[in-house]
Amino acid sequence: MTTGAELLGRYAETMVPVFGTPQIVLASGHGCWVTDVDGKRYLDLLSGIAVNALGHGHPALVQAVIKQAEAAIHISNFFTSEPAVRLAERLLGLAAAPAGSGVFFANSGAEANEAAIKLSRRTGRSRIVALEGSFHGRTTGALALTHKAAYREPFEPLIPDVHFVPPGDAAALRAAVDDRTAAVFIEPIQGEAGVREVPADYLRLARELTHEHGALLVVDEIQTGIGRTGDWFAHTAAGVQPDAMTLAKGLGGGVPIGALVTYGADTTHLLTAGQHGTTFGGNPLACAAALAVLDTIERDHLLDNVARVGALLDDVQLAGVAATRGRGLLRAIELSGIPAPSVMDAAREAGFIVNAVTPTALRLAPPLIITEDELGGFLTALPAILESARSAP
Ligand SMILES: *Cc1c(COP(=O)(O)O)cnc(C)c1O
Repeated sequence: MTTGAELLGRYAETMVPVFGTPQIVLASGHGCWVTDVDGKRYLDLLSGIAVNALGHGHPALVQAVIKQAEAAIHISNFFTSEPAVRLAERLLGLAAAPAGSGVFFANSGAEANEAAIKLSRRTGRSRIVALEGSFHGRTTGALALTHKAAYREPFEPLIPDVHFVPPGDAAALRAAVDDRTAAVFIEPIQGEAGVREVPADYLRLARELTHEHGALLVVDEIQTGIGRTGDWFAHTAAGVQPDAMTLAKGLGGGVPIGALVTYGADTTHLLTAGQHGTTFGGNPLACAAALAVLDTIERDHLLDNVARVGALLDDVQLAGVAATRGRGLLRAIELSGIPAPSVMDAAREAGFIVNAVTPTALRLAPPLIITEDELGGFLTALPAILESARSAP
């Protein structure tokens, strides 16, 4: 048996070091639990950053992947397949998108946003308004809309004419959106910024201003979509219909897939034949996996589970916890006086995978199938975890 320590050494010898040193080497997972190569078990409260919506090894997803792999894994976009067509129909239905709406399949979140950026360019305008704290991905287009200077600045110059405004500041948004604006990009909850919810009023204002100025409203639901917040898509709680929505993370339950949804015929037809493309995007394997995820969320009433289990995190009254944020099963625990990385390490030691999303906050994004007992087990263990983090060197 190769140990975790040995594999981490070999990792360091072979990988481009962009991820630093991984915490552990995982071997397998079952439900909400994962096991590392040394045999230690952990409750997975991160699900691969809001990806493993059905947890690990879910029979519906595994069977769908096996069955589709036996039929056809990849066919190229010279051809199409029944899973691709069915998934597009399914997403448009869940999005309550009007007639003439469309879907473009990609392989990741950043690629879905690239497609949205290109869509926005077809308005004949180039100005994009994005929010401070935003995360839209690492490719050079999506990166231009990503606010964090440490991610963005080493790679400048990026695409020009991107303007950042502070989320929630109505006056700044009014000043930023004008007749030169191609699109406003908004995450309904900023996951990477520490699970920070954008006020519903602000989302509605963005809708009004983009309507008024003929710009597109693009909601990035890559982290918040596919049931994560207890709704299929987080923006619907604000009662707005965007012009475009991007999806990825939870959509394939771990099989890479991204999607751009365009609302209405005018927006859908901004991109014409030959103007965009992808080799892998929309392949039948990924689409069959996504259909299995959507079917299972529906059949097993997982949106109700997300709301019910997520409510355990509405209010966590503990020494060392300052506040909680977020909705459904996308949550942050803001700490007071204990660094989040120390708590993450102590939690892992105690058998729980969480993420130090900021220096002062933990992010929880467990599988949508998690039970009250499983999440409750973490909350029971949390005081001791905080205590051991507090006394860590
Ligand atoms: C993760 C994420 C992305 C980027 O997705 P990748 O699949 O890593 O390219 C974009 N936007 C949001 C809101 C995300 O959470």
